[in-house]
Amino acid sequence: MTAPERRAALDAIAAEVRACTACRLHAGRANAVPGEGDPMTEVVLVGEGPGVNEDRLGRPFVGRAGDLLVRLLASIGWQRGDVFITNVVKCRPPDNRDPEPDEVAACAPYLRRQLEVLDPALVVTLGRHSMGRFMPGTTISRAHGTMADVDPATGAGHARVFAMYHPAAALRAAAVETASFADVARIPAALVEARELRERRAMASAGVTAPSAASADSLHAESHDAPQRQPDIDQLTLFT
Ligand code: URA
Ligand code: SF4
Repeated sequence: MTAPERRAALDAIAAEVRACTACRLHAGRANAVPGEGDPMTEVVLVGEGPGVNEDRLGRPFVGRAGDLLVRLLASIGWQRGDVFITNVVKCRPPDNRDPEPDEVAACAPYLRRQLEVLDPALVVTLGRHSMGRFMPGTTISRAHGTMADVDPATGAGHARVFAMYHPAAALRAAAVETASFADVARIPAALVEARELRERRAMASAGVTAPSAASADSLHAESHDAPQRQPDIDQLTLFT
């Protein structure tokens, strides 16, 4: 998809979100918060749900947690507009309570469709609710700062996932903030790794073997007839 096509597809999803009444959270919202960012980005950040500031403005991560998120991104030379930022639930849970499982389930198709459009190389989860969608069966204290494969059923069919603490948790505890800056510093290398894996998988499914992906045996067996393709650098938005 071209950038305008992606933009149009994301706008169409956002319009559906703003009109959505599929779960009880619609009743308390001032504004739904579909998400925003670069439609051609390789990196999607997924938080938990809108807070009071996000509900007021209809934009993700615009309160104190958002300020810290911007500082975390700035520490690796990124701006919020370089990535796409969204949440597991698009409407604010009352009193900032955790989203209920039925609310998460009702909202899940929007996130899945956003990820299908964006097709990122890396999904960065912010907090345990988001992590639970992409890296099930672990704990945030164990998984933060690490990367794993993603179930294509999430919509992110060619991505890896990198787990971070929620910035609001970092605001509450200095040790979590310190860990968050250490974790975010690993994202550029994680993106390079995720991008390379994605390229290797794309070449494998196209029947082309990448030199770096091949074991000694398969390199020997296939190098006679398989053309070796370089990653398409023009497709990449960050680090190019
Ligand atoms: N916390 C979240 O999880 N998401 C936001 O958009 C803002 C705060
Ligand atoms: Fe619809 Fe999601 Fe808002 Fe619930 S939280 S009303 S499912 S957009």
